[in-house]
Amino acid sequence: MITYKFRFYPTTAQENVLVDTLETCRRLYNAMLADRIENRTGFYEQKKTLTQVRKQCKHLQAVHSQVLQDVVLRLDKAYQAFFAGLARHPRFKRRTKYNSFTYPQTGFKMKDNRLRLSKIGQMKVTVHRSVVGVIKRVTLIKDINQWFVAILTDGEANRIEARKGQIGVDFGVTNFVALSDGTTTESPRFMKRSAGPLRMFQRALSRKRSGSKNREKARIALAKAYRKVRRQREDFAHKLSDRLTKENRLIVFEDLKVGNMAKNNSLASAIMDASWGQLRRMTAYKAERRGGRVISVDPNGTSQKCSRCGAVVRKELSLRTHACPRCGLTIDRDVNAAQNILKAGLEQARVEESPLLVQRRRISKFAPMKREARDLSHG
Ligand SMILES: [Zn+2]
Repeated sequence: MITYKFRFYPTTAQENVLVDTLETCRRLYNAMLADRIENRTGFYEQKKTLTQVRKQCKHLQAVHSQVLQDVVLRLDKAYQAFFAGLARHPRFKRRTKYNSFTYPQTGFKMKDNRLRLSKIGQMKVTVHRSVVGVIKRVTLIKDINQWFVAILTDGEANRIEARKGQIGVDFGVTNFVALSDGTTTESPRFMKRSAGPLRMFQRALSRKRSGSKNREKARIALAKAYRKVRRQREDFAHKLSDRLTKENRLIVFEDLKVGNMAKNNSLASAIMDASWGQLRRMTAYKAERRGGRVISVDPNGTSQKCSRCGAVVRKELSLRTHACPRCGLTIDRDVNAAQNILKAGLEQARVEESPLLVQRRRISKFAPMKREARDLSHG
């Protein structure tokens, strides 16, 4: 399975249909949610109800039937996640919170850079990488004033096996990341600078009268500012996680620190926190795809300990260099931390593997005993 995401450009008339479709889907979602709450109905019941109701409703007929069925499925998935304890109870969706709909099997056709959707029409798509495989489903996504199509195919992604490296990663404020191989990456500009503009847009929004046209304008301006930061963050995390997972079989992060750092509650540190979290998640799933492994270790003492001799070298946060009086090691303090993290990770990997050995031994010891017991009982 491969997913592609391309931007597409509807005409004004098509955009109106797209927006209407979204709105119909959103209302259906909310109606189905109310139905599940009030009447305790389930997925299959709702599927049948929808088929019946659609026969009498013009609004529903204007939307491809499978797109509507997918809304029912979406709600059911939300319930499944809730039942599994993975999410909160599904909630009614406001207009700004419902921004995509899906053709799960049919109703679409893609040829070169043209996407044809049943009930909507043909649109131009910016195809920046060639689509491999048969298209299984398409999802149309509205991102404020831009439209994207996510295409899922049955193609096989090229699997790049991770090389044999091992690396420790230290997250920080001055250095966004420091690696145990000695490389450091400064916090990107947007992380330090975007908080100001965002706050400005937020203030502007809060000054506008609710329900006014100016308020809607301010809301869109704020959403766009957030979108910009989100995209920069994604781009940054993609590049870094690619590099980490292509070169390394074992990647070691610190536990906990993400979240801890946002103590001062500022917008800038919230953005930084979110960036660390995203980098970790991306790295984890890419590592899995490439046959690598990510582990997290206790961050305690990683910055004070000497990574070469183990001596504790106390230093203020402002001191950027680790200089060990015992063994003479002099390196960047964050790189020293990253090397400690890698060491702790290697140790943890060793410990995690050894219980298996112990267990195997225990089973082989236990098995003859069981046989003995059986023999006894038969005797
Ligand atoms: Zn030392």
